Amino acid sequence: MSRRPLIAGNWKMFKTRGEARKTCRRLLNLVGDVQDVDIAVFPAFTALEAVREEVQGTVVGLGAQSVHWEDQGAYTSEISLPMVLDCGCQYVIIGHSETRENLGETDDRVNLKLTKALSSPIIPIVCVGETFVQRETGRVSQVVLGQLEKALRGLTAEQLSRIIIAYEPIWAIGTGRTATPETAQEVHAMIREWLRDRFSAELPGQVRIIYGGSVKPSNVAELMAEDDLDGALVGGASLDPESFAKLVRFAG
Ligand code: PEP
Repeated sequence: MSRRPLIAGNWKMFKTRGEARKTCRRLLNLVGDVQDVDIAVFPAFTALEAVREEVQGTVVGLGAQSVHWEDQGAYTSEISLPMVLDCGCQYVIIGHSETRENLGETDDRVNLKLTKALSSPIIPIVCVGETFVQRETGRVSQVVLGQLEKALRGLTAEQLSRIIIAYEPIWAIGTGRTATPETAQEVHAMIREWLRDRFSAELPGQVRIIYGGSVKPSNVAELMAEDDLDGALVGGASLDPESFAKLVRFAG
């Protein structure tokens, strides 16, 4: 793996400020010395400030779970790029399947959000992935590359060089069913090939493609051993600091 791996913990709608602080303190005890892996946590918006206070100046980075494409306005329940930057976020997740499904995030909105994020130094993590039925009916490449085509529309290879793509098969998220390392590798390699054909010869070597879907200490090592897997986006197993620390060390 030539690109620097990222292990990202998506805390979804879990953890109050106090719980998030406690998790960070324990996590930092366990991974504070890690040098060769990027680490980031994505707390609920309400805990961003508290987590920033805990992780600032440490090896643990901070990210937001979504961002709006406008700087401000009448968008009840949303959060803007200036707001997440103000909270110290270095990363933002865009197009998570739960946001697509529960909050009506369309490919067009993913594109607006990504374009907005790339106007700032924040590192966007763009999520794509197929449903079980789409996989069973042989539509993985059509769905995944279709999502990417729309998400990345209008952006240049230069702009895209710092994005991270998260391949998250929906059937593997929160289900305990993980893609086999070979299955994940196949899709990651396909995405890299597409980046080459669609944008530039350099881009596939620059963009990190991370895997998400029931990654846990018992399967992280075999997944990370694949050439085109540059890290993991983790939900459930990132909530517990002991388990998250094992993921960071690719250890079961
Ligand atoms: C996720 O929410 O991005 C995810 C991969 O969740 P889990 O690890 O729980 O499957």
